[in-house]
Amino acid sequence: MHPLSAAQLLDAWERGLSEPVYRRALPLLAAASVESSIDVVAGLSIGARDQSLLTLREWTFGSQLASVANCSACGERLEWTVDTAHLRASQAPALPGDISFEADGYSISFRVPNSLDLGAVADTEDAALASRVLLERCVIAAQHDGREITAGHLPDSVAEIIAQRMAEADPQGDIQIDLACPTCGHRWRALFDIESFFWSEINAWAQRVLSEVHLLACAYGWRESDILSLTPWRRQFYLGLVSG
Ligand SMILES: [Zn+2]
Repeated sequence: MHPLSAAQLLDAWERGLSEPVYRRALPLLAAASVESSIDVVAGLSIGARDQSLLTLREWTFGSQLASVANCSACGERLEWTVDTAHLRASQAPALPGDISFEADGYSISFRVPNSLDLGAVADTEDAALASRVLLERCVIAAQHDGREITAGHLPDSVAEIIAQRMAEADPQGDIQIDLACPTCGHRWRALFDIESFFWSEINAWAQRVLSEVHLLACAYGWRESDILSLTPWRRQFYLGLVSG
């Protein structure tokens, strides 16, 4: 992987706008990866995808992340910051390939979910149904007492074991952050999704940069490519002159 220039980030952002929500950040990764298409990146495990997105985010905006959350007890709005180092699982993301185990007379072979799998359940509001669909997509083979069965016939107890094994195999795909409310003292854990977080940042950044291009192009007659090739510091300096 390599960092992206302002022009490359804008190109990837623009491609992301025309992708379904679950794929919108993938053009960023494809652009930053050597010889990787969006389809290839979509096949990465969620942990592998998110680990690369964390790296790209560090290169783009630094390692400090800041956002806001509402206390689930008293509703107070709180600001939080976290370093990307705290968002990296200690275990490496799952490698491509099948994972097998045996439990309760069942012999299961599965793979961990990727972006395409999440996309398949993106519009499914019923969490239990979404879990089942994911399971059926990701189970490669299942046997009970030596006989082949379909994933749809696996009992809930085995489905739960598979879900747990999936999370264990790809921990970077399931990152949570600890939050504490300064007003009421309530503490809780919240899911952190680097894909939506980074996309929101890129979306806001792109719109700001395009506004800056507009101002500088109007003031100096420079081309977009020339303005984007300026360092952020120089761009801000000229914007300061323009706005007086
Ligand atoms: Zn609170």
